[in-house]
Amino acid sequence: MHSTGTRIDEALQQNRLISDEALTDVLTKLLNRRSLPAAFDAMITRQSPPVFAVMLDIDHFKAVNDRMGHAVGDKILIAMGTCLRTAFRTDDKVFRVGGEEFLILSAGITIEALHERIANLRRAVALAGRISLPADMPLTFSAGVGIWPEDANNFGDLFDIVDKRLYCAKKSGRN
Ligand code: GH3
Ligand code: MG
Ligand code: MG
Repeated sequence: MHSTGTRIDEALQQNRLISDEALTDVLTKLLNRRSLPAAFDAMITRQSPPVFAVMLDIDHFKAVNDRMGHAVGDKILIAMGTCLRTAFRTDDKVFRVGGEEFLILSAGITIEALHERIANLRRAVALAGRISLPADMPLTFSAGVGIWPEDANNFGDLFDIVDKRLYCAKKSGRN
């Protein structure tokens, strides 16, 4: 027979699990799109400017699914999550915002250090691709970077800007 205290503890733990699931992407275990607005607000409240938003999208990912199958595609997405967690620090926030689209919120660093981190990510992702994909299928991504509050003072506008810059990166040759 459980005591009332134990039952309350269990209920609280269950609630926490449910709310974790609501904010986490099942496949990659990264944060999901739903947790983005609150995470952005928390970041700009706790950190001093600038806060960087990096939106990135895997290049030609549809070809990975078409040629290698959906299961390999999923494996690549999981590897992408691992690369992102390794390339960015624990106080950065990494989200899977859509199918093969990811967003990073980062503060307390210079733009040069951010670029270096993205370059490290590019190398790690390329290596993950060489492990799981054929030699003629390099794994690359394109990215758009935006700065709060320089580019936009609210999350909605910043999200639009990084999305547009990502689109420009795609149009001007990807990777
Ligand atoms: P681009 O370089 O322009 O970004 O081309 P792309 O092929 O990466 O982009 P597109 O938007 O045409 O295709 C994205 C693909 O991502 C299509 C969709 O099937 C796949 N996808 C989305 N979510 C998942 C998922 O959870 N698992 C797998 N395996 N594939 C997914
Ligand atoms: Mg996409
Ligand atoms: Mg893509």
